[in-house]
Amino acid sequence: MESALPHALPALRAGTLYLVATPIGNLEDITLRALRVLRECDVVAAEDTRRTGQLLKHFGIAKPLLSCFQFNEARRSRDLTERLRRGERVALVTDAGSPGISDPGERVAQAALKAGFRVEPVPGPCALVAALTASGLPGGEFHFVGFLPHKAGARRRTLERLASCHGTLVFYESPYRIARLLAELQAVWPERQVVLARELTKKFEEFLRGTPAELLARAGARAPKGECVVLVEGAGRTGAPPPGTETDSVP
Ligand code: SAM
Repeated sequence: MESALPHALPALRAGTLYLVATPIGNLEDITLRALRVLRECDVVAAEDTRRTGQLLKHFGIAKPLLSCFQFNEARRSRDLTERLRRGERVALVTDAGSPGISDPGERVAQAALKAGFRVEPVPGPCALVAALTASGLPGGEFHFVGFLPHKAGARRRTLERLASCHGTLVFYESPYRIARLLAELQAVWPERQVVLARELTKKFEEFLRGTPAELLARAGARAPKGECVVLVEGAGRTGAPPPGTETDSVP
């Protein structure tokens, strides 16, 4: 009888692009499958070859590395597709987390698919999933925004467009712009609960919860440092009891 547990796959397939998730701060989060793919592939395309070289070295893996970042991804897509045509097994990683999620990977995947090659995800760490998982905000329906545009008008228009969205809103933001984002959230949704998930999976991981004004007051005293995911409760949920105070429903 077949085991109920998922099982390991056979050796890597020729002419396949593997999109491999890597740790967002804690090396223990690398998956066994990610290590096997990185060990068995022919080449690793990396956002930053030096950084990925260090990751591979940590796990005792030596592999040819090719750079693939925002500004050479279009050209690199052609090189990598050519390698797939030769039957190579190509792994693509970014600096941290899942490729294609506010990171390079999308164009390479599209080029490979268009040329008829197989593209496989090797799932693992992803800041948005980690943040949502422990935020206490609903994870059943959410809208991943990623990074807002830089310009003030475009940021405001994006927030206005999201105003009626019922799912939890998930933003990526640079630590330098967190206070700006909180001020913008205060202007549009002063009542909504916001969660700042910072330094996920790292030593100083923390979740700060409150309205934009409450978080701004705390940020004023001590600006949040380190990488951060910002989550905002969806439309129509304002006033919901804070996480931890809800009573479980009895079936
Ligand atoms: N592809 C990545 C993923 O799967 O999460 C995201 C890459 S994006 C360029 C970087 C952004 O992700 C950061 O600005 C921050 O918003 C978020 N991020 C990445 N690592 C994080 C961490 N350890 N803690 C909090 N946020 C993180």
